[in-house]
Amino acid sequence: MQISEKQIELVNDRIKALVNAGSFYGKKLKEAGITEIHSAEDFQKLPFSEKKDLRDAYPLGLMTAPEEEIVRIHSSSGTTGTPVIIPYTQKDVDDWATMFARCYETAGITNKDRIQITPGYGLWTAGIGFQAGAEKLGAMVIPMGPGNTDKQLQMMQDMESTVICATSSYALLLAEEIQRRGISKDKIKLKKGVIGSERWSDKMRERISGELGIELYDIYGLTEIYGPGIGINCEQEKGIHYWDDFIYIEIIDPETGEILPDGETGEIVITTLVKEGAPLIRYRTHDLSRIIPEKCSCGRCYPRIDVIMGRTDDMMKIKGVNVFPSQIEEILGTFKEISSEYQIRISHLDGKDTMRIYVETTGEYEFALLAKKITEKVKSKIGFTPIVKVVEVGVLPRSTKKTARVIDERYD
Ligand code: ZN
Repeated sequence: MQISEKQIELVNDRIKALVNAGSFYGKKLKEAGITEIHSAEDFQKLPFSEKKDLRDAYPLGLMTAPEEEIVRIHSSSGTTGTPVIIPYTQKDVDDWATMFARCYETAGITNKDRIQITPGYGLWTAGIGFQAGAEKLGAMVIPMGPGNTDKQLQMMQDMESTVICATSSYALLLAEEIQRRGISKDKIKLKKGVIGSERWSDKMRERISGELGIELYDIYGLTEIYGPGIGINCEQEKGIHYWDDFIYIEIIDPETGEILPDGETGEIVITTLVKEGAPLIRYRTHDLSRIIPEKCSCGRCYPRIDVIMGRTDDMMKIKGVNVFPSQIEEILGTFKEISSEYQIRISHLDGKDTMRIYVETTGEYEFALLAKKITEKVKSKIGFTPIVKVVEVGVLPRSTKKTARVIDERYD
C-alpha cells in the first residue's frame, strides 16, 4: 500500500513538529540530518522506531506538544523493565474516540446499544478507549472494568446490555458462568462482542459466540499508537479495516527491514499521521500480519490487514523462507482427516534446514497418502517442502498448559 501524497504531507508536518519540539525523536531525526520529507522514497529512508527507544525516552521524552496542551498520559505495562509513557493532547484524545466510534459503527453498533465495558481503566489504554468511543457514538455505557463476575452478570441482565467489550479469555469465562449458573437465554440481551485482538483460536471464538449467541469483532490497537481502536473487522469477517486517515501501515521483513509487497506476511510498522502528543514514525509493533490487497466486499474503502498471526519472535527461517507457526496451523486446519494436535520440529541435517511436521489421524485414512497431500499443500502455500509424519491419534504429547508445538533443534 503505497503512501499517498496526502499522507506524505501529514508525515512531513509531524517530522517538523518533532524537530521543532526537540523531543526524543526530534533530536534523533535532526542528528540523522532529516528535517522534512517530500516523496515516498524519502519516507522509506526514515529510520524505524522501536519499543526500546520509547523506554529510553522515559518519563516524558516523547512529549512533542507544549506542556499546557497535554491533557493525559497513558502507559504500557512495564513487565519487562521501564514502562513507556505516551502523552496525549485534547486532539489526540478526540481523534482516538473518533476512531473508536468508527470501530463500533463498523461492527454495526449504534447509539441505541448498551455497551458493557470489562477491560481495565487507569494507566492502561483499554477501558477508557472503549468508553470514549461509545460515548462519541451516543451509546449507553456500563463501565464495569474487570472482574467481579457476580456484578457483571447482574448488570448485564438488569441493564439489558447488548454489547460486551472484553478480552477473549474474559468473554469465555462470562459465557461459561452464564451456562453454569443456568441463567436463561432470554435474560441475556447480548448481540455483539468487541474483543481485544490478541491471537485466539477459532475454537475459542466458536465457543464464545455459540454460548452467548453473539457476533464477535476483533479490535486492533496498541498503547504506543493511541490504544485499541485503530482497526476492526467488518461483517464480512475477512481481515481488519484500519483508519488510513490517522495511521499509515507498512509490512516489513522482520529480519532485513525490507518493505514487503502487499499480500506477504511480515511485521506491522505504523506511522501516526496526525498525532500531536507523541507522534511515532515507522514504529515496529512486532505484530505479524499482511495487507490484504483486494477491496473488501463490504464496500468500505478503508484498507485491511489480516487478523494478527502472532509475534515476530515466533518467526522461523527455513531454507531462506520466513515461516510462522500460525501459517502451518492454518494449513493443517484445512485437513478434516487430522486431529487438532500437531508438532513442528526444525533441525539442521546434512547442511540443510528441515522441518518435520507431525500430525495425528485415525486408522481409516492411509498415512502415506495423507502425508503427501499435506506436504504438497505446505509447498504450494509457503514455498518449501517439509517432511510430514502421520501418527495414530493419541501419540503426540498433550499438556494442559500451553503445549510446545514448535521445537527448534538447530541450536541445541
Ligand atoms: Zn469490509
